[in-house]
Amino acid sequence: ILDTYAGVILPHPSPKDKETAQRTQAQKTQENLIAHDKRFESAYTSTHQHIQLFANISDVASAHRAKAEGAEGVGLLRSEFLFTSLKPTLETQTQAYREIFALFEHITVRTLDVGGDKSLPYLYLPLESNPFLGVRGVRLFRTHPEIMQEQLLAIFIASENRPIKIMFPMVSRVEEFKKAKAIALSVAQTHHIDISNILFGIMIEVPSVLFLIEEFNEVVDFYSIGTNDLTQYLFATERTHPLLKVDTRSPVIFSVISQIAQKVTKPLSICGELASDTRAIPQLIARGITTLSVSPQTIAKTKETIRTI
Ligand code: PEP
Ligand code: MG
Repeated sequence: ILDTYAGVILPHPSPKDKETAQRTQAQKTQENLIAHDKRFESAYTSTHQHIQLFANISDVASAHRAKAEGAEGVGLLRSEFLFTSLKPTLETQTQAYREIFALFEHITVRTLDVGGDKSLPYLYLPLESNPFLGVRGVRLFRTHPEIMQEQLLAIFIASENRPIKIMFPMVSRVEEFKKAKAIALSVAQTHHIDISNILFGIMIEVPSVLFLIEEFNEVVDFYSIGTNDLTQYLFATERTHPLLKVDTRSPVIFSVISQIAQKVTKPLSICGELASDTRAIPQLIARGITTLSVSPQTIAKTKETIRTI
């Protein structure tokens, strides 16, 4: 028996184990059906607090899936799918963004987050001995500004004056945000595009940001906590490491989220895997989080979890 709910494998289950597993399976199937039926309804806690449920999407197909699963918007558009082994043209990028933007009222696009362990043939980087601490995310603005400028231009063209949000990943210093935003503004100016409706924010993934929130409050429009990377950098434990595992629900993580929630003066959401962890959600809501962004297949279940809190 592979019990993915409890995270255990029973190689030699007894008849009683089998009976229990079958009962749990039937119960979970029933719960999933109920959640699925209510997927387009908003999620309110028992104290009538609305929790916004957004989707983490990674291409056009997952955007459609998120829509069908009841997402109220996109909290994280991972734009890496456009950057395959061939460098995408401006038109390819613009077309994909257009298709996704047409589906939702609320959209947050993350700028390219490759580098480090994920290489691209046209992204010339030095050999790094610690790729997770190397040229990743927003750092590409410094090393490969032309790729980032073209991506921003595609987003601007596709946005057609919609109030979309642009989010920079792996930000560790206020200066990095300011420089990336300045590049964005100059792209818009060069191409005579009005981007006054576009908001700019950061992912909170690097621990240094925790000590700079007051300064970030002065310049960003919003924040989203990327618990996947934040956990890896807090514990100095690579997220893909085959042997080392970190407790993703460690009290350290919740303490950090509390500190962030208390200090920020701009909208805050969570888009890491923790946002769909049924055992973490009550703690996130207790800390004042009211927007969660999760993978499309977990939207219905996450909404149903919120209704029980
Ligand atoms: C994260 O780091 O929590 C996150 C959502 O981004 P990604 O998993 O794409 O690095
Ligand atoms: Mg990340």
